[in-house]
Amino acid sequence: HGVVEFRNVTFGYEPERPILKGISLTVPAGGTLALVGPSGAGKSTVGRLLFRFYDVQGGSVRIDGQDIRDVTQDSLHAQIGVVPQDTVLFNDTIRYNIAYGRPDADITQIEDAARAARIHDFIVSLPQGYDTQVGERGLKLSGGEKQRVGIARTLLKDPPILLLDEATSALDTETEQDIQTALRRLGAGRTTLVIAHRLSTIADADEIAVLEDGRIVERGSHAALLARQ
Ligand code: ADP
Ligand code: ADP
Repeated sequence: HGVVEFRNVTFGYEPERPILKGISLTVPAGGTLALVGPSGAGKSTVGRLLFRFYDVQGGSVRIDGQDIRDVTQDSLHAQIGVVPQDTVLFNDTIRYNIAYGRPDADITQIEDAARAARIHDFIVSLPQGYDTQVGERGLKLSGGEKQRVGIARTLLKDPPILLLDEATSALDTETEQDIQTALRRLGAGRTTLVIAHRLSTIADADEIAVLEDGRIVERGSHAALLARQ
């Protein structure tokens, strides 16, 4: 399960200025769709509609065929893990930041040993321990370290659907590779919508859709799109 569908979606932040002009997309369960296109095309807006920060004005966004307007915000958000460009951390411990929103789910007490090990992998690759204070009054983490904390947070949540919104765009090339590897592991088996502007970061997407000025202008495999450039 976890099929994500946009059916003929229209949306504008202001009524007189449409941003998405009728887009249709399907991300099959467990598959990866990358959305690329120039800055301002409307890519992040697609992500915000999936998370229901805004409602569509025409058409619908559906998960497993169900209109997301018909499910509660809590149940929608439980299904979708977001890795944004910059993970925002609380001025608290790494442990708190990973368990954010789920104080019951202490990372060190996860029953499923395999999952605990996967999460632990991300943390041990941080130079700091779980109880390190981060943020303004604590340790300043690098961009890559912050993304690792964000990825661990999403692993703990274990959502069937992932939204990666320029998750490595702010990182240098070397860190980007490292975080891409972590994201591939995070994404395994999950329905994934990747928003990106660098083709290099989406080579393993099953399908790529190119958004320009609020419309899908091309779609195909990575190889097919490269060949057409
Ligand atoms: P992309 O992610 O492709 O760069 P966005 O979805 O962020 O594009 O933005 C698409 C268009 O919507 C841009 O013209 C942007 O200025 C506009 N936009 C984005 N967010 C808002 C907002 N909160 N209010 C008004 N306009 C917005
Ligand atoms: P949870 O059930 O884990 O509390 P939330 O609905 O609070 O889920 O959100 C999940 C995570 O995604 C949170 O860390 C939230 O800050 C983050 N998030 C959601 N949408 C965005 C976005 N567009 N940009 C940045 N972070 C986002």
